[in-house]
Amino acid sequence: MIIFSNVSKIYENGANALDNISFFIERGEFVFVVGPSGAGKSTLIKLLMHEETPTAGDVIVNGVNVSGLKQNQIPFLRRNMGVVFQDFRLLPKKTVYENVSFAMEIVGASRREIRRQVPNILSMVGLSHKAKAYPTQLSGGEQQRVALARALVNNPSFLIADEPTGNLNPRTAMEIMELLSEINKRGTTVIMATHAKDIVDQMKKRVIAIEDGVIVRDEARGVYGYEN
Ligand code: ADP
Repeated sequence: MIIFSNVSKIYENGANALDNISFFIERGEFVFVVGPSGAGKSTLIKLLMHEETPTAGDVIVNGVNVSGLKQNQIPFLRRNMGVVFQDFRLLPKKTVYENVSFAMEIVGASRREIRRQVPNILSMVGLSHKAKAYPTQLSGGEQQRVALARALVNNPSFLIADEPTGNLNPRTAMEIMELLSEINKRGTTVIMATHAKDIVDQMKKRVIAIEDGVIVRDEARGVYGYEN
């Protein structure tokens, strides 16, 4: 479970990115975070990942107050949290297989575990046949599938997706959403920041809308609510 309790974030330049926001996300939920540019969505995600610390309030992930984590405890948090971005962020000199296996190596998985788990996860995202390809040889949708495989290979409880369909055409975007839905059905909590109106309106999941650093809407089967 994720709890934001009276969280504010003021950057050093004085920008008040989040202003006293509170919400919780239960295990297994699928949540869209929407709002205009500059509303505070990325800041929310950075606080979750401990890339930024709150100016006030508490961010609690699975019972652990993230703001209180020491530097050497952050890898444990990150292991529990897979992340995908709009621009995929794959390692260009590594193959599909290596991009995914590398994520296991850095958390100290054994070679045996890696050999077992990587093919499983590549098969789940439908990319077994591309294991030896390099990122530049893949379509955008395929690259995002690799990024998803890498995010999920260590079995995190949360998947954080920051505008994951932003670089994809509508059809490919929908395929990625189907995959995210499937991943969520298997028990992973999904939190996705997005501007994709069609996707949010179609999926009928929980929507948290942020404007100017405050939550203006939190609906169980919500809609995007803005014109694109
Ligand atoms: P969104 O993701 O919804 O577009 P952000 O969280 O990126 O919104 O930004 C929220 C506000 O915080 C904006 O006013 C933005 O200019 C400011 N901001 C974001 N990151 C930084 C930063 N690293 N330093 C200073 N101001 C920032």
